Amino acid sequence: MLDIKIIKTTEPKAKPIPGQKLGFGKIFTDHMFVMNYTEGKGWHDPRIEPFHNISLSPAAMVYHYGQEMFEGLKAYRNPNGEVYLFRPDMNAKRTNATNDRLVIPQIPVEDFVQAVSAVVDVDRDWIPTDPGTSLYIRPFIIATDEFLGVAPSKTYLFMVILSPSGAYYESGLAPVGIWIEDEYVRAVRGGIGFAKTGGNYAASLIAQQKAHDAGFSQVLWLDGVDRKYIEEVGAMNIFFKIAGKVVTPALSGSILPGITRNSVIQLCKKWGYDVEERKISVDELLQAQKDGTLEECFGTGTAAVISPVGKLRYKDDVMTIKDGQTGELSLKLYDAITGIQTGKLPDEMGWRVKVGD
Ligand SMILES: *Cc1c(COP(=O)(O)O)cnc(C)c1O
Repeated sequence: MLDIKIIKTTEPKAKPIPGQKLGFGKIFTDHMFVMNYTEGKGWHDPRIEPFHNISLSPAAMVYHYGQEMFEGLKAYRNPNGEVYLFRPDMNAKRTNATNDRLVIPQIPVEDFVQAVSAVVDVDRDWIPTDPGTSLYIRPFIIATDEFLGVAPSKTYLFMVILSPSGAYYESGLAPVGIWIEDEYVRAVRGGIGFAKTGGNYAASLIAQQKAHDAGFSQVLWLDGVDRKYIEEVGAMNIFFKIAGKVVTPALSGSILPGITRNSVIQLCKKWGYDVEERKISVDELLQAQKDGTLEECFGTGTAAVISPVGKLRYKDDVMTIKDGQTGELSLKLYDAITGIQTGKLPDEMGWRVKVGD
């Protein structure tokens, strides 16, 4: 158990009002969680403080070699004022898997969940309640040693900041167009693809720009070795429904193990679908499309939960899926998961964690 010191702001900001357009990641709440790490001492001084700028030496290691990690999850407030997190223990475990790869010290799972819950509780009145809205939670760790040598830092900062965010879909699930990238790759096995760290995103920007310029909203990455097998989308994992079966790329080390991905697999199995985690080549997709067995395609991630894919481009081929409409399974999964998250549906899977009393 962390002994969290709470210093509340004396200058609270105006909270967003119902109906206000929030967008994503632009508005921040009144408080943040902070905890320091010092070699020999461990994690110390857990505290909640007014949201403020931080000051670091220009030589702080994070600026030079990118030793940092982040997480992303959401809090939901229902009409009764109850606040829920969705599977925060999974974010804590993934934090430690990322930290392990990047030689960042581990954080006990209970401490991570306690830190997130505590700061969300302090700013619970900031959680928007319009349909589809939520409080986006961004835990992250940065290396803070003042040193230009290449080595793991001996000091770190763990922080949690909060951002009220708008509905991902303004009016119902809207299928997106996806660009299968055939030039750049995101990650290779043995690299950092499974870790949630900024470097993966830095490496992705150029392809995202290319996709946007061509009128597609996201990039779908192929494996870094053969450039033949499907990996994942920008910040989402990817699923296909092929001839009645639910198919998704296996976690090979170069794919981010999404919590939404895991939840979708569990729900599909519970509903009686055959779920296959395996290699899927672009050729298999092109063939399934020709045969008429490529029934659905959707991305999964915390931001959109389920993002139906209406169009997939690979070189000169553009595959239209479900005539560009949202598939039944995509919709069923979206309703089931968001229903559990917001407290509208019973939590049969035990995924919801209540914040405060
Ligand atoms: C965070 C992330 C995902 C989705 O993970 P969720 O836990 O479902 O939000 C997928 N791919 C990448 C690259 C990510 O960073």
